[in-house]
Amino acid sequence: MNRILPNRPGRLLALLGSFLVATVLGWSANSRVWVQYAPGAKGQVMAALAKAGGHVHYEFDNIEAVAVSMPEQALAGLSHNPHVLLVEADPIRVMSSESIPYGIDMVQAPLAVADGGTGVGMTVGIIDSGVYTAHEDLPPGKITGYPNGTASNPEIAWNRDYLSHGTHVTGTIAAIGGNGKGVVGVAPGIDHIFMFKVFGDTGNWIYSSSLLAAVQYTVTTGHAKIVSMSLGGAGKSKTEERGLNSIYNKGTLLVAAAGNDGNSTTSYPAGYSSVISVAAVDSGGAHADFSQTNNTVELSAPGVGVLSTTSYIDTTTLSVGGTGFTTHHVEYSGRGVATGPLVDGGNGTTVGSWGGKVVLVHRGATDFNTMVQNVQNGNGVACIIANNVAGELNATLGIGNSSTIPAVSVTLADGNTIAGVTGSSVTVSSTFQQPASGYEAWDGTSMATPHVSGVAALVWSKYPGATNKQVRQALDDSAMNLGAPGRDNSYGYGLVQADDALVRLGELTGGSPPPPPPPPADFAITDYGATGAKGKPGPFTVSFTTNAVSTGTIAVSGFATVSVPSGTSHSADFQGSKGVTYSITVSAAESGGSGSDSKTFTFRH
Ligand code: CA
Repeated sequence: MNRILPNRPGRLLALLGSFLVATVLGWSANSRVWVQYAPGAKGQVMAALAKAGGHVHYEFDNIEAVAVSMPEQALAGLSHNPHVLLVEADPIRVMSSESIPYGIDMVQAPLAVADGGTGVGMTVGIIDSGVYTAHEDLPPGKITGYPNGTASNPEIAWNRDYLSHGTHVTGTIAAIGGNGKGVVGVAPGIDHIFMFKVFGDTGNWIYSSSLLAAVQYTVTTGHAKIVSMSLGGAGKSKTEERGLNSIYNKGTLLVAAAGNDGNSTTSYPAGYSSVISVAAVDSGGAHADFSQTNNTVELSAPGVGVLSTTSYIDTTTLSVGGTGFTTHHVEYSGRGVATGPLVDGGNGTTVGSWGGKVVLVHRGATDFNTMVQNVQNGNGVACIIANNVAGELNATLGIGNSSTIPAVSVTLADGNTIAGVTGSSVTVSSTFQQPASGYEAWDGTSMATPHVSGVAALVWSKYPGATNKQVRQALDDSAMNLGAPGRDNSYGYGLVQADDALVRLGELTGGSPPPPPPPPADFAITDYGATGAKGKPGPFTVSFTTNAVSTGTIAVSGFATVSVPSGTSHSADFQGSKGVTYSITVSAAESGGSGSDSKTFTFRH
């Protein structure tokens, strides 16, 4: 049995019920603060900032304030400076303008686009957890998928993504560029994304047979030239391998995550010879410690702190005595806003008398759920868990547990700072909206994989006559070497490079691009039929589905033509008469005018 999971380390650990969920990172700049000083006291405050190791970014003399970065340990002391009126977080404003994730330039995506590798004509298939298609930074009308939800099982709908994994992957490939918001993908000019949803709301595993069926559908019905699989699992299957080989040998490029177990085992499908196995590197090109190393690793791509689209907005803040601290919501704990005086609840192993208080507890003596339940049972209004080792803490109560009070985490250093100011007024605010157009920086070979898929789409779009094997060779030959010279088990051939691969693919295909054939009309009526009547008078239904959002008509002889609303599934009911043969024509067109198709069908009982 092959259990295949989405390759996101934090989520995996959460699924396994671990108490510590590592390295699912937001981005934060809470050591950067606003400092408002008393009128006339700028000199004294600037001296104090310098002494505390502060770096001043801006001076706003007209409002008697400066923006400064400084060690978090120095913040509490600063707030007690008599010349300082206010210390508050200088919150980031990245969402109101577009931010270019570091990986976009690192893989040479803009250079390749400028050199004609635009992504036009390409369809990338993604096997994942669905996608939030209404996200403000994902291209409307370019994303379709399978399966549709049903009234009894809405969770399976491809355009619902409560896990957000698929939405994050999609954004790395196709987030809109130049719209002044969010991020930008590797290949925003791509024609089409086809999402095949295999993971539900909580990131279930699937069988290798389900994966193979999904890949087949994505290629045959979704018309994907490239299939991006940010997933994997241990356990090789000869049958799965044969199925993927067959798809590869028919011309599809297959890309998958090398895996996040941080060891030298091989993850599948990445480990099959027909699949490009993608390792993760950080923004400096260093191998990510979680990225699996083995002799099937083929290419490296950015996979640490990758900023992309999410299907939710998770906003968690902590203010202690007016000073903001970096914090994270403790998974499965309550949401809301709570304010109260701070009390130190020790290691959280016992229930105190904490009515109306915000309780700081220190990790190490018991599990997170016990700590939070004890605070809740002691009538605390919120719980702050301080780490007991260096680094940020992403904690969980564990699947099946919950609390009514919000719980948040802080670093060991911040916990010690906060412990020194008991009695201060504390506000914990933790809110969660879904679906919503959010952005987060995530780690994983799942995040590296769509970089390679997007680069392949750019490169292939300029030479549409190239084979998948030529595209693959071009990516491998042109990769920027990292680590040991030549291919190695950590980085494969190295960092994928779109613009260099474009040059290499030109060489491999004869030096100049063949005249591109007209892009294949990828629009198609994918399922079509009529049911009912059966030789008796009564209703019959004509239905058809399309592989892209379309409008269309259903024409049945003897009846007025019916127009069907925009969508991918269309149907209309008719009242048939016994023994009559009807000519039925369905037709549909994409809003972008990229194609239409029609058939005739003769209905006989
Ligand atoms: Ca954007």
